[in-house]
Amino acid sequence: MTEPEKADAVVIGGGIIGCMTARYLDNAGRKVTLVERDGVAAGASAGNAGILAFPEIVPIPSPGITWKAPGWLLDPLGPLTIRPGHAPRLVPWFWHFWRASFKKNFERGLSVQTELMHLAISEYERVRQDQALAPFVVNTGTLDIYDSADSFDAAVPDWTRKRKAGFNFHRVGRKEIDELQPGLAPQFEHAIYSESGLQISDPAGFTRAIAELLRMDGMTIKPATAVALEPTEAGARIRFEDGTSLEASTVVVACGAWSKKLAESLGEAVPLDTERGYNTTLPRSAFGIERQLYFNDHSFVVTPLKNGIRVGGAVEFGGLDLPANFKRSEMLLKLASRFLPGLSTEGGEQWMGFRPSMPDCLPVIDRSKAAPNVIYAFGHGHLGLTQSAATGRLVTELAQQKAPSISLENLRFDRFS
Ligand SMILES: Cc1cc2nc3c(=O)[nH]c(=O)nc-3n(C[C@H](O)[C@H](O)[C@H](O)COP(=O)(O)OP(=O)(O)OC[C@H]3O[C@@H](n4cnc5c(N)ncnc54)[C@H](O)[C@@H]3O)c2cc1C
Repeated sequence: MTEPEKADAVVIGGGIIGCMTARYLDNAGRKVTLVERDGVAAGASAGNAGILAFPEIVPIPSPGITWKAPGWLLDPLGPLTIRPGHAPRLVPWFWHFWRASFKKNFERGLSVQTELMHLAISEYERVRQDQALAPFVVNTGTLDIYDSADSFDAAVPDWTRKRKAGFNFHRVGRKEIDELQPGLAPQFEHAIYSESGLQISDPAGFTRAIAELLRMDGMTIKPATAVALEPTEAGARIRFEDGTSLEASTVVVACGAWSKKLAESLGEAVPLDTERGYNTTLPRSAFGIERQLYFNDHSFVVTPLKNGIRVGGAVEFGGLDLPANFKRSEMLLKLASRFLPGLSTEGGEQWMGFRPSMPDCLPVIDRSKAAPNVIYAFGHGHLGLTQSAATGRLVTELAQQKAPSISLENLRFDRFS
């Protein structure tokens, strides 16, 4: 039998969570190997909207949400769909989602998310000190747009929570909306403007740049598919699809929506599912876009990127294997052209990605019980780009046996059991 290869710290998954974690481990002096089956930034981290959504502290499972969902499901242009056939598999996930919406659980989720976001802000400040990465972080400001005075009023409690958590923004009417983003349809008279709104100008390029800087610093990128994990005396063993294996002192599971199987191989069940999201990236000339536009009543965004304008969002529950239904992208584009009448919808590139989603919309950042040198870092749902640097820091603190910067109690993998 051939001896397994040996490594120090192995990160499985080359999305933004894996790459950012590799960066923090490397900064802590670890010799990192990144294992990725499809190339760096092959998953959700390539096509996301690029928003550093620090103020998004209010958990989606909130009191009253379950009454709104049926209306969304019935609307063909609505923000939520469930692919027939996948529904039965979702029962446990929605059960936990429903429980997460209870007032007490919602309040806890809000406070955990707030703490995580404040760490995310300070860690991104550090990322911006890296001259090679700083140009990716741009301040365009965020305009949160509402269809009517009623829907704006309904959102006021959430904005009050954000203000209380230290985020700054102000309400704008039609005149200021026009100045901030000329060309919006006339019905939009109510919005919130967050002047400090940041975004990543090229999410795939950013993720690849992190990996490339690490590679130049000595990180190995191993193209392989991990299929199972086992504890060993000195760490953990990773088994690969081709029959080979690798032993490491520390293993980080950062496989996004695909992380569940690796946890299961250690006998650890996590209610991770995927919220599939769709978008279309149009040429930059499609519209004179000034900043991130979030159409709150329709749960989709239009963002200016370095090489295009991305129109995307929506949530589709359909698992990891069903083919994409690009009618979802077309519907979002149809809505966008109604809201931005001058938008040219020609020449776009459609994309679908798998958000790794936990029912309470909080990630898992935790040590495996079965193999304590395996650290889980997945389940960031809608906020993985935003929370990537904070995750890198927290995982590295776990790996280095240091006290974590924030409590990880509510980010345990077994919090639903
Ligand atoms: C439409 C859409 C818009 C979004 N917009 C935003 C936004 O504006 N702001 C924000 O913060 N977040 C946003 N998100 C969410 C964000 O993109 C995700 O939370 C984040 O990309 C998750 O990163 P990840 O590294 O965990 O997963 P991924 O990027 O999916 O990476 C996982 C990687 O692991 C690899 N992998 C999987 N299994 C294995 C295996 N067994 N062996 C080896 N490699 C493996 C995959 O190939 C993949 O490269 C959006 C998501 C979508 C879908």
